[in-house]
Amino acid sequence: MLQFTSHLHCHCILSSTSNQHLLFILFIMKLLSASSLAIAAAFGTVATTNGFVAVPSSSSTSSRHHLSTTVTSSSSSSSSSSLASTNDNSFFADHAISIASSISSLSGQTVVVKYGGNAMTSPELASLFCQDIATLQKLGLRIVVVHGGGPMINAMLDKVGVVSTWEGGMRVSTPEVVDVAAMVLCGSVNKDISSGIVQAGGRALGLSGRDDGLLQCTKLFGGDDGTIDLGNVGQVQIVNTQLIHELLDAGISPVIAPIGMGCKGSSDESVVYNINADVAAGRIAGELRAARVLFLTDIAGVLDKEKKLMDRLSVEDVDALIKDETITGGMIPKVTYATDAVKLGVKGAFITDGRVPHALLNEILAGGDDGMGSGGGGTVVTL
Ligand code: ADP
Ligand code: MG
Repeated sequence: MLQFTSHLHCHCILSSTSNQHLLFILFIMKLLSASSLAIAAAFGTVATTNGFVAVPSSSSTSSRHHLSTTVTSSSSSSSSSSLASTNDNSFFADHAISIASSISSLSGQTVVVKYGGNAMTSPELASLFCQDIATLQKLGLRIVVVHGGGPMINAMLDKVGVVSTWEGGMRVSTPEVVDVAAMVLCGSVNKDISSGIVQAGGRALGLSGRDDGLLQCTKLFGGDDGTIDLGNVGQVQIVNTQLIHELLDAGISPVIAPIGMGCKGSSDESVVYNINADVAAGRIAGELRAARVLFLTDIAGVLDKEKKLMDRLSVEDVDALIKDETITGGMIPKVTYATDAVKLGVKGAFITDGRVPHALLNEILAGGDDGMGSGGGGTVVTL
């Protein structure tokens, strides 16, 4: 299996190993562009969508230019012959074997991706994220996107003069805060992501947890003993997995805004709940018994007290790390619901640096057979 270096010290300038890997990923994306059927046949997957199309925005152009500049240091074109003629002759075969193993182990499997609010503020990275989703669809993976939008909600709260506070990484949600969160998440953020994926040549449908009973909640209380009133923050009790499967069967990725409703038939059925996106992603992954859940965020992964990356955590580690305050704030719901997902049968929950270009593709394609390799650094939580 290939070893990949951490992005702890440098998030945007990729290490040479990651560079090689990124080069290979771009090679795959080019192949998809040239012939999605050919690569699907090669990897035994089904290609159901159009050829790869870059998101036609100026930001997309600049980031693609940046990436191709990185790549051209070792390859002057993206043809297979130029890759094979790099100094390291085993490079092509080693990466092809590892990537083919990753794809064959995950093709047809469901992967849930939490796209973090803080990692989605760069238009360049957002466009690469949409390309990654479209590419993974073509490789036969069933991708569900759950998104946050914290920075965008903060900006709108400021604009309309509504103050919000935090408790244990959860936003305390008065009815005014929920109104703003729903407007921002379901309105602009959700549609930007689903249309970005479509522009990148994939298929996506934007939904909120209020559509077709997708996310049915009870009121979630905060604090160790569950006594802190967080307002209308939702704990997901029921996920309409049938709707998600129907969309995935049709080759469409659901893009889910974490705004939910009360449980059908209960007294709070009509209440609109604000759900932390990590809670929603972890619960959705768990209920779907997804193969993987990835949390893309704004940091290298889970760090210890010395700020060093912890690349693996078991579910037993997590409680102690929260208790001794190694893990605080927004990382608490991430590791808690990563743990919840793996307890329900998800094989691996990845907390990955979403500031790295193509973080998603890198993480998924670097795993090899067992899919547990971490391509872009990051932390994997397992049983
Ligand atoms: P997102 O938008 O991705 O949900 P959050 O801000 O909610 O991001 O959560 C990620 C943040 O959690 C990090 O930026 C960091 O400030 C904080 N954090 C707290 N404890 C840790 C830890 N042990 N390791 C890494 N990040 C941590
Ligand atoms: Mg968060």
